[in-house]
Amino acid sequence: MSIGRQEYRAALKAAEGQCQCRHDRPGSCRGQHRHTGPSCYAHADDPEGPLLLAALDPDTTDRDAARLSVAGLLVLCRACWTRRRIRADDAREARAEAALTAAQLALDLDL
Ligand SMILES: [Zn+2]
Ligand SMILES: [Zn+2]
Repeated sequence: MSIGRQEYRAALKAAEGQCQCRHDRPGSCRGQHRHTGPSCYAHADDPEGPLLLAALDPDTTDRDAARLSVAGLLVLCRACWTRRRIRADDAREARAEAALTAAQLALDLDL
């Protein structure tokens, strides 16, 4: 994601250098955090670091994400970022499959 160094520093500071993944907040990975349950406290200095800046909505394109303000961004550790990416990809695939099935049904009805 093409975000300025200044924005990155500001977001990291606002997050107090910690992964902001919380299961009760939007944009979380919804996965298992080792030792810490629904919240992730991975720090920038942890093995999971450095922390990444990501859009709240994992389906946001890089181009759109670059225009988001800090409020629309989330600081995530690599583990959470990856889990979230996989979930978003799976969800997108499921949506595409459902759309394909619907299109196929419509086609069948036309015959
Ligand atoms: Zn995390
Ligand atoms: Zn997480």
